[in-house]
Amino acid sequence: MDFIDLKTQQGLIRKKIFAAVKKVFDHGQYIMGPEVFELEETLAEYVGVSHAISCSSGTDALLISCMAKGIRGTEDVVITTPFSFIATAEIILLLGARPVFVDIDPYTYNIDPSEVQRAISFYQGRWPGSVKAVIAVDIFGQPADYRRLENICAQEGVFLIEDAAQSFGAEFLNRKAGSFGNVGCTSFFPSKPLGGYGDGGMIFTNDDDLAERMRSIRNHGAGKDRYDNVRLGVNGRLDTIQAAILLQKFRLFPEELESRQKVAEQYQDLLSGISELTLPYVDGRGKSAWAQYSILADSSLTRHYIMETLTRAGIPIQIYYPKPICAQPSFREIGFNKFHCPISYEVCDRIFSLPFHPYLTLEEQKKIAANLFRVYNRLKENK
Ligand SMILES: *Cc1c(COP(=O)(O)O)cnc(C)c1O
Repeated sequence: MDFIDLKTQQGLIRKKIFAAVKKVFDHGQYIMGPEVFELEETLAEYVGVSHAISCSSGTDALLISCMAKGIRGTEDVVITTPFSFIATAEIILLLGARPVFVDIDPYTYNIDPSEVQRAISFYQGRWPGSVKAVIAVDIFGQPADYRRLENICAQEGVFLIEDAAQSFGAEFLNRKAGSFGNVGCTSFFPSKPLGGYGDGGMIFTNDDDLAERMRSIRNHGAGKDRYDNVRLGVNGRLDTIQAAILLQKFRLFPEELESRQKVAEQYQDLLSGISELTLPYVDGRGKSAWAQYSILADSSLTRHYIMETLTRAGIPIQIYYPKPICAQPSFREIGFNKFHCPISYEVCDRIFSLPFHPYLTLEEQKKIAANLFRVYNRLKENK
């Protein structure tokens, strides 16, 4: 059993992918070839925004967004969640800005808008600089509460970035993930809902000026041509070959999203009998892209038993994330801990993710469920 199965999907479209890659070999425009622009147009339309700017990774999507907003010194505060992949906060430190971690909602594990409001009020005025941006993450594929986040940020004049690396294809209030805030950033890392065969990312926005700046930053701050560099930039382009592959994979994507939803519902049915497990909570106003199916065990000790039992049964289990970002070595001296973000620390102690992909079979899911039942039955016997 695979944690994420990329082979089945490949089997379905292998020939089309080879043909698409061959086409790139034939025209030879490996950098910024026509497929790059076709992918940008296709995904801008899908997400429902006026600009999609492809780039080399989800991390660079976040970096380029922050650079375009002029975030750069310790005076610039960027508020974000500690319960995410390191990349979300990494770029804040990389730009020399000041990350401020606020806690998550105990049900969705997404950043808590009330905590964001509180942090903005605390730092505005007290800090020598100002709160420049909020980076919200759509954790495990479920969009954060953008009704409240957009209101708060608009009212406070704070730039809002949606880290949609895990949520491409998800929805909230009938809007697609990637379309929230001032910019949305997604990732095409192979294991994400829309994954390529290498690194890649995309930035979405409706802001024309910002889009132009981000296009320029992606390409070394290019002005009217490559050797006219009007601002500081990076080499952040998406390869043409990767765009060609993604265009083929995108054709399967709507169907795969439906399969993901079905697989999630099957897990929900199979596991709802174990009252000690907290299954994913889905906000009724939206739809998750189900990047991961993550469950909260009743304690960190039972999580340990679960990991042992399932691993022994040949079922791969992952922990996203074993510790909050603020507890990682490069963030420790910023000074955020358990007292600032108690829910994030608690969730890191108890969360685990089951195998999940659109091609997971009901048989495989039953085997996983049976093993989870076994853990809890044994614990009850030993009491
Ligand atoms: C994967 C991920 C990223 C980074 O994307 P890459 O394409 O790997 O650089 C950023 N944020 C979150 C929440 C992610 O899951």
